[in-house]
Amino acid sequence: MKRDFTQLDGQSFDLLVCGGGIYGAWVAYDAALRGLKVALVEQGDWAAGTSSASSKLIHGGLRYLETYDFRLVKKALAERQMLLEAAPHRVWPLRFGVPVYRDSRLGAFQLKAGLMLYDFLAGKPGAGMSHRRYDSAHFSGRFPFLKADGLKGGFTYADAQTDDARLVLELVDGATSSGAVCVSYCRVDRLIEEGGKATGAALQDLAGGAECRVYARQIVNTTGYWMAREQGGRCRLTKGVHLVLPGCGVNEALLLTAKADGRVFFVIPWYGRTLIGTTDTDYRGDLEHVAAAAEDIAYLLTAANDYLDTAWRPEDVIGSFAGLRALKYSDVAAPSAASRDWELEIAPNGVHYSIGGKITSAREDAASIVNSICARLGVNASCRTRGRAFPWKPEQDDHGSFPVLEEQARQSGVDQECGAWLVRRHGQRAQEVLRSIAGNPRLAIRIVPDLPFSYADLLYCAREEAVVHLDDLLRRRLPLLILARLDESEIRRLARMVAPVLGWDETAIGREVERCIRP
Ligand SMILES: Cc1cc2nc3c(=O)[nH]c(=O)nc-3n(C[C@H](O)[C@H](O)[C@H](O)COP(=O)(O)OP(=O)(O)OC[C@H]3O[C@@H](n4cnc5c(N)ncnc54)[C@H](O)[C@@H]3O)c2cc1C
Repeated sequence: MKRDFTQLDGQSFDLLVCGGGIYGAWVAYDAALRGLKVALVEQGDWAAGTSSASSKLIHGGLRYLETYDFRLVKKALAERQMLLEAAPHRVWPLRFGVPVYRDSRLGAFQLKAGLMLYDFLAGKPGAGMSHRRYDSAHFSGRFPFLKADGLKGGFTYADAQTDDARLVLELVDGATSSGAVCVSYCRVDRLIEEGGKATGAALQDLAGGAECRVYARQIVNTTGYWMAREQGGRCRLTKGVHLVLPGCGVNEALLLTAKADGRVFFVIPWYGRTLIGTTDTDYRGDLEHVAAAAEDIAYLLTAANDYLDTAWRPEDVIGSFAGLRALKYSDVAAPSAASRDWELEIAPNGVHYSIGGKITSAREDAASIVNSICARLGVNASCRTRGRAFPWKPEQDDHGSFPVLEEQARQSGVDQECGAWLVRRHGQRAQEVLRSIAGNPRLAIRIVPDLPFSYADLLYCAREEAVVHLDDLLRRRLPLLILARLDESEIRRLARMVAPVLGWDETAIGREVERCIRP
């Protein structure tokens, strides 16, 4: 993947997609597969917005059953199943435990009913995806770090997990391979209109400083919460924070209910760490600097500690990240009660606006956008993304494993955990990462001892994955900046290591390190 701003200058496209999060990536990929001439531009790095700050779940959304959002849940469950099959490296099953305590807001009977409905709405999911019930001893055995006092038992059910930023990256790569021109660090400054219709955009190269114009027969705005500026009162912004804590030693997640306000939150294993999230509070602050506040951290720690045998202390928090949801405006009091459903709006100037939605169902929503675009262009081409194998999908055996790649990783000296994550991170392209180790076995070593990222992985991402800035590499290609406590000298050491690949001199290294320390 190479970034090239000059491919845009003065060009005419069938479709210009503004915003390179999950919605923009799916729209561009879908439209390119249907044969349209497509440009996708993103003002920052790919997935720099909400699409790298999610809970990383590909899920139906069990909690939406409480608000009777059955249509939303069914649609997301169908997409979950499709993604598990089309992208087994990118989307993998994750089981969730739901404990039932004497004072739980929902009792065993209500949970059982909800989980039966969830399984029913999933249709015919693969083996091992149905819910199960446990008595207290067996539930404690699965989650030994939970308080046993008052525990009556619990359930487990299945959903799925991903690496959200890499999901977007793989789709952008798919769009590029299908002919789309995809350029990061390229901001849409304003639209060009003729006779009341949008016909193009003035763009700025935020990596080089150049400006240009592009022309397009159709324009889609997938700028997520930035669109809220344009949409005024029609969007409601809410902030969601996650904390990163040490691993709990289990590969299953938990769905819990905060004792303070009855809200659902998750405790999720990810790259060997634990994510706790999310909060859901109305947001009116600076769109460019969304971060966890002290009260968000206190809320999540208290909510989790109410369930834990050994409480986490503030100093145990390794990192945090925050994202904004752009929801369709509603005046329901609690942000978490506002619908997560997605909506397409077409403005009088013809621009298509994607509002709200989920990472899980973005493909289906993008297909609706591209259907509308094709209808306007008079193009008769149906969606080709449903069930399509992902661009980096590796070969699998009958048990859903990737034995060839995992064996190659072992032979290269990559430890088992690192090897398994390498396949999830790169799919078939893991072969290329492993090849680089053949010439230099020291590249198989982990960057941080308790995180599954090798130096070979770091250098491969720097070389092949359209990295412009150091934080693209250390936050979204490998999420080291949120999963590890890297001090300035460690960040500088990593910057020096990738500098030859990225063409950075000492001044540039200093600038890049500064961006990571003071974002
Ligand atoms: C805390 C939280 C947890 C979530 N968890 C989940 C989950 O587990 N599973 C799930 O399915 N969904 C989840 N969601 C929802 C999901 O993350 C979002 O629906 C989705 O990421 C929105 O994607 P998007 O492409 O619309 O927006 P974004 O990802 O925000 O992308 C918009 C992009 O547009 C770019 N942009 C803005 N202005 C311009 C401009 N002028 N020119 C060029 N580019 C521009 C931005 O830089 C940005 O990258 C969660 C949301 C939040 C907030």
